[in-house]
Amino acid sequence: ARPGTADLLEDLNAAQREAVAHAGGPLLVVAGAGSGKTRVLTRRIAYLLGQRGVHPGEIMAITFTNKAAAEMRERVASLVGRRANAMWVSTFHSMCVRILRREAKTLDMSSNFSIYDSDDTKRLITLVARDLDVDPKKYAARMLAVQISNLKNELVVPETAASNAGNDLERRVAEVYAEYQRRLEAANAFDFDDLIMRTVSLLQAFPDVAEYYRRRFRHILVDEYQDTNHAQYTLVRELAGTEATDTGVGPAELCVVGDADQSIYAFRGATIRNIEEFERDFPDAHTILLEQNYRSTQTILSAANAVIARNPNRRAKRLWTDSGDGEKIVGYVSDNDHDEAAFVAGEIDALAEQGEADYSDVAVFYRTNNQSRVFEEIFIRLGLPYKVVGGVRFYERREVRDMVAYLRVLANAEDTVSLRRILNVPKRGIGDRAEAVVATHAERERISFWAALRDAVDGKVALLNPRSAKAITGFVTLLDDLRETASSGAEVHDLLEAVLERTGYRAELEESDDPQDASRVENLTELVTVAREFAEFTAEVTQDESAELVLDDGVPAPGSLPAFLERVSLVADADSIPSPDGGEEGDGGAGVVTLMTVHTAKGLEYPVVFCTGWEDGVFPHLRALGDPAELAEERRLAYVAITRARKRLYVSRALVRSAWGQPQMNPASRFLDELPPDLVDWRRLEPSSSGFGNFGSSSGGPSSGPRAATTWGGRRSSSSTSSSSPFGKAWKDTVALKLDVGDRVSHDKYGLGTVVSCDGVGPRATATIDFGASGKVRLMLIGSVPMVKL
Ligand code: ATP
Ligand code: MG
Repeated sequence: ARPGTADLLEDLNAAQREAVAHAGGPLLVVAGAGSGKTRVLTRRIAYLLGQRGVHPGEIMAITFTNKAAAEMRERVASLVGRRANAMWVSTFHSMCVRILRREAKTLDMSSNFSIYDSDDTKRLITLVARDLDVDPKKYAARMLAVQISNLKNELVVPETAASNAGNDLERRVAEVYAEYQRRLEAANAFDFDDLIMRTVSLLQAFPDVAEYYRRRFRHILVDEYQDTNHAQYTLVRELAGTEATDTGVGPAELCVVGDADQSIYAFRGATIRNIEEFERDFPDAHTILLEQNYRSTQTILSAANAVIARNPNRRAKRLWTDSGDGEKIVGYVSDNDHDEAAFVAGEIDALAEQGEADYSDVAVFYRTNNQSRVFEEIFIRLGLPYKVVGGVRFYERREVRDMVAYLRVLANAEDTVSLRRILNVPKRGIGDRAEAVVATHAERERISFWAALRDAVDGKVALLNPRSAKAITGFVTLLDDLRETASSGAEVHDLLEAVLERTGYRAELEESDDPQDASRVENLTELVTVAREFAEFTAEVTQDESAELVLDDGVPAPGSLPAFLERVSLVADADSIPSPDGGEEGDGGAGVVTLMTVHTAKGLEYPVVFCTGWEDGVFPHLRALGDPAELAEERRLAYVAITRARKRLYVSRALVRSAWGQPQMNPASRFLDELPPDLVDWRRLEPSSSGFGNFGSSSGGPSSGPRAATTWGGRRSSSSTSSSSPFGKAWKDTVALKLDVGDRVSHDKYGLGTVVSCDGVGPRATATIDFGASGKVRLMLIGSVPMVKL
């Protein structure tokens, strides 16, 4: 049943309604966090379908993650039913894969192409650089990969890069780029950046192809537009068009939503230029501002506004809410990162116990993935259910990558990077020398590595010793057998089982004594499970909806090997974020606490948010401290973090943090100082120097800023705070160690050492001590230092 107009517009404010119902020219919705941009986009799709008679197949919506795409599709489906399935709702990358599969022939590629992730890319660049005699000390593969990626994000092709090169570095990069690109094509592979760039060049070089998509997609909608880079912007422009084609197909209706203050992907080439210049890029554009926030309390909103207001050159926005002040922000200064994690855990437990929040209502944010470890340790110890999003991902594990490489080779024999990865895995007597001989043969004969392996079997490769030739024959036969299994209609999980079995990969791990290999076996079992669920899921979809599901030729057959590989290649951190209602099984319904970086949290919201590690050098990141542009980006990141919170916000920092195994003292994040003091209730401050042993406590008076208690001579107050955190260990009454350069010390953990420098006074006093084999360590000299002067 079609919902009436009233139903679709009723629970929107006037500006939102205008955006949903706007028809005709390009539309830009700019607005601060939580003002309903995503809601407008979703609702607009429903409105197009329900009220304007648009066919779902005419709609293309682009979101920032696959998960967001799935949610948007679901939400639209709940409004308009299954017809939603014919829409293209996806990320930029998935959308391009779909177009490229369909149009591969036009680009002289075949539609079973591989998608190379950053690790594959680095491997291939390493190979290329070696072959071109590029000095790896001067030009590291990682650096070359970044440079090439930047060029692609700017749509610079190798020829242009070469002619633009003005110095040695640029010339070298251009050279590697050209060869890398040649080999990618030979391998029938695209890297991530190619997916966008090659789609753009496809549309630009082949007007008939562009026209096909223009006719087809009459509505293009883009969420998080502030994080598009130049290539993505051009893609949108090519798809939507700005004027009628020769055959009279007018531009598609374009609707983009974004917030310049939330642009946090500059390192991937994202530029807020795309928002700022929208009206110039798209003639007749109309802009709508949303000003009411529906997500957060006024306290949280005021904090976010105060922080972002410090950024120069931004357009001020008025963002308000009528949801009331709500709770104060809770601030906490801990002795070290373990105590910080313990505080967070304690608070979560307390909230859960008081019935204030379920675990699934809570998110813990940090700046970089490595900060998750401490939280994990404490959460495990306390039995607090949690899930870390991101970090070393499942699909990045060696054994999983090995299996995926096998599958890729079975789908695409030209995929040289994957083929060379598994050539001698598990060991089968094909050494580096044999590999090099085959590679040279391939190069000389201008054939693929796979074809060269076949030549080796036929004895056509000179200089290959008979033992290697025999080993290669075994390998080629093995792959031929597996390929037969694949083409005989085996499901992906059966195929995986066959690979594990016939290559001897699993047997080798099972026979190993290394405990790590045992967990590798578990991961492989998990991979088989993933594949099985994938097959079952897609079977369900096709059975259930075969009548309605429009199978476009850009989509690989459901459950097929290419479909599975596509899924694996495009999986992103954010795709594994637990959904609020769907807690893990057996958790009693309270769900799990979600731990993630702020970058991953973009677009999400949680009733309770912990912002941790707010220290200069951590957040803002060390790299940003001396760079105004980077600092502005960090501040936008802080704005994103704060605005994820709906009801309760915590900010915390640690006085000492163990980074790279070495304790390090970080000053308070400048962002803490930017929070209006009256909005924050500091539960625990820096230890006041007065008693060398207590920390200030405050109930949030105006003088209780983060540094209020650092002044000398403060009054010793009985701390209600140490008891409020069950884990907060009392600050020991110890006199600061008085050390001088050259003093010898003995430390419980690091052993004997010599003081090499001293810094700071009173509670901020530190010494850098050379502990010989344990390295140089900078230590605080106040509190419970397990160290004596000799
Ligand atoms: P972000 O900038 O973080 O991406 P956003 O602008 O996309 O935020 P949404 O996520 O769409 O904002 O909306 C924020 C919250 O406010 C959601 O929970 C949404 O359901 C709710 N919301 C938006 N508009 C309204 C409205 N008119 N009435 C009630 N709730 C609303
Ligand atoms: Mg949004």
